[in-house]
Amino acid sequence: MNRVYNFSAGPSMLPLPVLERAQKELVCYGDTGMSVMEMSHRSKMYEEIIAKAEADLRTLMRIPENYKVLFLQGGASMQFAQVPLNLLSGYKTGKADYINSGNFANLAIKEAKKYADVKEVASSKDIGYTQIPDWDEAEFRSDADYFYICGNNTIYGTRYTKLPETGSVPLVADLSSCILSQEYDITKFGIAFAGAQKNIGPAGVTIVIIRDDLLGHALDITPTMLDYKVMADKGSMYNTPPTYGIYMAGLTFDYLLQQGGVAEMEKRNVEKAKILYDYLDESALFHNPVRPCDRSLMNVTFVTGDADKDAAFVKAATAAGFVNLKGHRTVGGMRASIYNAMPIEGIEKLVAFMKQFEVENK
Ligand SMILES: *Cc1c(COP(=O)(O)O)cnc(C)c1O
Repeated sequence: MNRVYNFSAGPSMLPLPVLERAQKELVCYGDTGMSVMEMSHRSKMYEEIIAKAEADLRTLMRIPENYKVLFLQGGASMQFAQVPLNLLSGYKTGKADYINSGNFANLAIKEAKKYADVKEVASSKDIGYTQIPDWDEAEFRSDADYFYICGNNTIYGTRYTKLPETGSVPLVADLSSCILSQEYDITKFGIAFAGAQKNIGPAGVTIVIIRDDLLGHALDITPTMLDYKVMADKGSMYNTPPTYGIYMAGLTFDYLLQQGGVAEMEKRNVEKAKILYDYLDESALFHNPVRPCDRSLMNVTFVTGDADKDAAFVKAATAAGFVNLKGHRTVGGMRASIYNAMPIEGIEKLVAFMKQFEVENK
């Protein structure tokens, strides 16, 4: 069986060299005589694995000393609760401002409302989330405990190209579907977090990058497992961390460094996305619904405007080895998720296939 071009939004494609290295090391890691899966998380050999993963991520993202890197569980969705639990100055009284840019931002808002006085300062919900909401800084509350955005909207294919200026209010960003795809200045964020399964490794690890001064303020009701400070003090090992997932993430970090780091990824991702968007803009059949300045580099959505044609396209593409192009169930249409691991050939071949489909379906 050949590997396909997998356009899944997540879990998604991983770099082949990463999978092959994991395969090579699966049964016996180095000279340990055991699999990483079988190692104690307290062992010296595992300590080296997690320390290298963290150091490489720090290098890749230029994470300063005054930020902690945590490897947690519960997915990005757990952060929707963990962020308010840790950052609010009071239960139900602490203020949090949110920009509602899509499904995952909306879920984060819903969850935060259980604990916080939430204000939605901008939203693009009523226009189907086809753009990053335009915001008015006058709406931001200067006494908010934090300000929340979703950096890349996986379902709708939008991304922030500039960040809101929140002054001394810590900016929290869900970077699940854009981490390591483009350069970010981490110092702009109080917290940046990401589930691993889009651009890093298998599902099961959540990376949380948090500025030191935001630790140690969790609400009393916060479960111990969800207190960032507990996890920071214990080096992400209050309990057993997702050891194998962290190892796999480490392999990806190592691979990305060899490839030239995030700057090189960004360059390739801009080039990759452009091939697809340029075609969508000239196509008479396919159309991208997103405001051009907000187009995602990672998730490219498109429609024909005819649900039957969309379905026929997805079916034909699947048969040709371009899989998981169906759009999210809440929006329909198509979506090509083109994370770091998607090679440029995958996109060139997809566009060639789309052109052919267009000719045959005039
Ligand atoms: C996938 C995704 C999530 C949800 O991640 P889980 O790990 O399944 O909880 C949240 N936010 C964004 C931006 C995502 O892409």
